[in-house]
Amino acid sequence: MANSKYEYVRAFEQPDVLLPNTWIVVRIDGRGFHGFTTKYKFKKPNDARALELMNAAAEGVMRELPDLVVAYGVSDEFSFVFHKDCTLFERRASKLTTTIVSTFSSYYVYLWPKYFPDTPLTPPLPSFDGRAVVYPSVRNLRDYMSWRQVDCHINNLYNTTFWALVQLGGMDAQAAEKELTGTLSADKNEILFSRFKINYNNEPEMFKKGSVIFRDSPLSHPLDDAGFPQPLSKTATEKDRKRRVKARIVVAHIDIIKDEFWAARPWILS
Ligand code: ATP
Ligand code: ATP
Ligand code: MG
Ligand code: MG
Ligand code: MG
Ligand code: MG
Ligand code: MG
Repeated sequence: MANSKYEYVRAFEQPDVLLPNTWIVVRIDGRGFHGFTTKYKFKKPNDARALELMNAAAEGVMRELPDLVVAYGVSDEFSFVFHKDCTLFERRASKLTTTIVSTFSSYYVYLWPKYFPDTPLTPPLPSFDGRAVVYPSVRNLRDYMSWRQVDCHINNLYNTTFWALVQLGGMDAQAAEKELTGTLSADKNEILFSRFKINYNNEPEMFKKGSVIFRDSPLSHPLDDAGFPQPLSKTATEKDRKRRVKARIVVAHIDIIKDEFWAARPWILS
């Protein structure tokens, strides 16, 4: 590119390279979805079509960005995890975050008619914010994922009870909120069961657990005697990449807090 007297402005750009060798989590969240869900008359507290649309958009993101190893979604948010060895965009935070946000938003709008065939989108159109956070250890990363899933559980139990009081119990929002102030999980389970014959355990798994998305294919990282994954050679890295591109992408609604999920799929974080 030719030099010009204007070139100096480039120096104003600040570096935002993320710490090497750390797990990068990009979390996106729907902007003003409280109003958005009202506008499109989402079923409360959980509109399954809307959650499936979120999952389908996230699947699109996973397919287009093979460096992503796992994603977790609940409500209007999704967390995408880049492998700690990822070097995409030299690990520049703004590039990684904006690429995820725009790819996700594009899929969300593109797939909308499939999930809401009778309700065309009209401006203001759905949009998402995003941020990148790095986690230095698998423990920290798993604690992050656990934090989101616990949040899903707490919010869903609250919302399920709140909307039962409103929709089935005929309360207004204020009264329902007051009723729930200071209640513990056990109290909410009791309200659901004794007043509305709802067994919270029988609620759909997608509502209770959120959605985890991963590649259903062991990666080719060889393990050493102690079971630690070894770095890949250049050709092996290329092969590994192809494998990721081809791998089936799975959406599941299961516990990701306990060891079981990760132990059964060691390739996700290796
Ligand atoms: P912000 O722009 O700050 O994120 P927001 O209105 O999006 O504001 P959130 O805290 O992100 O606030 O909450 C998301 C809102 O969208 C909640 O009210 C939640 O109940 C609603 N929501 C998201 N997904 C669904 C769904 N599938 N069905 C019903 N309601 C949903
Ligand atoms: P990166 O992902 O790194 O941005 P890129 O392929 O998008 O890679 P850019 O430097 O952004 O690379 O260049 C954009 C490319 O798109 C250029 O080749 C440019 O000529 C082409 N392009 C953009 N807009 C138009 C247009 N309206 N008509 C024809 N070509 C276009
Ligand atoms: Mg928010
Ligand atoms: Mg939001
Ligand atoms: Mg949210
Ligand atoms: Mg360009
Ligand atoms: Mg470009």
